Formats: sequence, structure tokens, C-alpha cells
Amino acid sequence: MLAAFLLAVLVDAAPIDTAPLEFGACLDQLREEAAAHGVAARTFERAFKGVTPDASVLEAMQAQPEFETPVWEYLARLVDDKRIAEGRSRLAAWEPMLARAEGKFGVDRYTLVAVWGVESDYGRIMGQRPLVRSLATAACFGDRQRYFRSELVEALRIVQAGDIKAEALRGSWAGAFGHAQFMPSTFERFAIDFDGDGKRDLVNSIPDAIGSVANYFLAQGWQPGRPWGYEVRLPDNYDGPSGRHIRQPLYEWAKLGVVKVDGKGLVGEGNAALLLPTGTRGPAFIVFKNFDVIHSYNRSESYALAIAYLADRLRGGQPIQASWPTDDPILSREERREVQQLLIARGFLNGEADGIIGSRTVAAIKAFQASAGLASDGYASGRLLKALRGG
Ligand code: CA
Repeated sequence: MLAAFLLAVLVDAAPIDTAPLEFGACLDQLREEAAAHGVAARTFERAFKGVTPDASVLEAMQAQPEFETPVWEYLARLVDDKRIAEGRSRLAAWEPMLARAEGKFGVDRYTLVAVWGVESDYGRIMGQRPLVRSLATAACFGDRQRYFRSELVEALRIVQAGDIKAEALRGSWAGAFGHAQFMPSTFERFAIDFDGDGKRDLVNSIPDAIGSVANYFLAQGWQPGRPWGYEVRLPDNYDGPSGRHIRQPLYEWAKLGVVKVDGKGLVGEGNAALLLPTGTRGPAFIVFKNFDVIHSYNRSESYALAIAYLADRLRGGQPIQASWPTDDPILSREERREVQQLLIARGFLNGEADGIIGSRTVAAIKAFQASAGLASDGYASGRLLKALRGG
């Protein structure tokens, strides 16, 4: 079975750092690289005893879902009544430890428990794959070999330091592990021993995992005592800027007619961005620096919103008020490519249509929308495709 995958990797001539090597030869290279980073030969041999490549890791790496999950389904799945109720029971059960983390790092307990809940369902789903095996497979046969090699070396250093035993180092196919789903390199930089037993064990120690998340957030610039953001309401026919990277003082947003969802004026300090996950027809959020800190954890706006929203619900906040535009179909990969092709044909976008809606495509969509007299929110959906096809 692996041979078939190797063939697929070879035939699919995507740019890769190193040509796929036979596993044994690859291990020789990994052994050298690990040694150069201080991993003892004995650690390496013990960790790799009986390790074979895992074809399912390559399968997972190459899987490209035809449809992305709509943000409303994603939020409904991650922030349901059960996860809120369980989060509240965790808040009570771990109260002294959470208070200590708040005091030391300035990150509130609701956000910390929300990360735990979203990342591993409070430790229920941490991944069962032996980490060394997954990382070695990706390091030898994947198309991001350099990245996975360095993650593998960091994993071996965790074992060597005695923080987590090799047998307990299990996680996702991509190498994230433990209650907070850290990658080995994140562990190296931010993991702490928060229960005082001398080990940084993010798999078996909940205090270590929570403390490490708090330490990470503080290092990323978390602003203690400030909110991630909140839901807002746009004026009818809103046509102003949006997107996480467009930041301005709140009074500028207020001038554009943006108010809190309850109709009151905007409050808060510092620059803020206006997040429109599904364009002007869905819920809108003002987001501050702390939202970016949450975003840095996994680089997905839907994911960051899930954590922020779960944290709000845990602290007693309301459900999101506005409705999601579930009547406006999300696009398949092929349809996203068509959106790009039509934008290219009309001169709004350069380059190739790859079906991935990045910041350049969003800017092109906004320009098209503005030229067509539509709300320029950059949201790629069925309505947009129809408008692009239409004229
Ligand atoms: Ca510990």
C-alpha cells in the first residue's frame, strides 16, 4: 500500500524539498540531523525501534476536501451545549489552578478552558498515533519534509529530556499532541511545568497543558483584562472596509455606522478590525489584538472564532445574535476555481486559479463587487459566483 502512495508522490510532481528516499536511507539522514541537534544515538534508536512508515499519514496529508466546512457548522459543532456545560464543570474542578494561571500570565480562565475544549474536547480527543512514526513518515515522504524533519527532531528532544515518554507521545497525523495540541516546536519554545513535578508533560498533566497555553498567549502579546472582541451590527447597505488586517480606531468604525449588537456604541481600547466571516449578510464582529493572539495558535479565523465564542459562552455570554446566511451556498473547490477564472477574465486578478481563496482573491472579489454595485465584503459564495457569471 505504501508503494502506491510513494508512486503517487513521485508522479504528482509537486515541488518538494527532497526527493522521496527509501525509508532506511531516510532514517540514516534523520539520525545524522538528530545527532547534530543533540539527540543521543541511544534516544534515537530506542524511539525508532520497529518504526515503519504510516501510509495513512500520507493519505491524510494529501486529502483535499471538496467542500470546506461552513463556519456556522464549524461553530455549531465546536460550541454546543455539551461543550459549554463540560467547560463550566472544568472551570469549577480546576478553579485554583486556573486562578494561578490567570494571576501569573494574565490570560483569563475562560479563554484557557476554551482552548482546551476546542483543541482536544477537554482531553478526550488528543490523537492516538505514535508521534515519532507520523513525523518520520511526513519527514521522509511528504511534501513539507524540511518542516517535519525539524518537528521530528524536537519530538526526540522532548523524549530525551524525559518530559514525556516516547510511548505516551501520541497525537494527530500532523504531529500535534496533548491536551492543547502543541506541535513539538511549540512545545520547545513555550511548554512549562505548571504542576511542579519537574516535567513538562502536556499529555498527562492538565495544569502543564493549561499553563503552557497561558505562557504561549502571553508571549504572543495577550493583553490582560481586555476582550477578544464582540458581535456588532452593521448599518443597512454597509459598504466600508472589513477583514482582520484592516485595523483602525473604534471611532472610525463608529463613523461608518457600526454599533454593538444591542445597538449601543462601540467600547474598547486600541485599534480594531471588522470581521465578516460570511460577508455583510451574516454575523459581524469587532476584533482586537487578543483575537490575533488566539488566531496565531492555529491560523484559521473559524478556529479562532470558535475559541473566542466558547470563552464568551463559558463566562455567561449570549449566543451569536445575527443569523448565518445558510441560504447562500458555500462553494466547491471547482466553483472557487471558477470564481478565480472569472475574476482573471475580467481583469480583477492575476495569476492562476488554484481554488484557494487567499487575501489576493478576497481583494479581487471586493474590487469586482464595488464595480458591480454590490456590497464589497469579499465573501466568496454562491451569490457571488452567480453575479460573476451573470454579466
Ligand atoms: Ca509537570
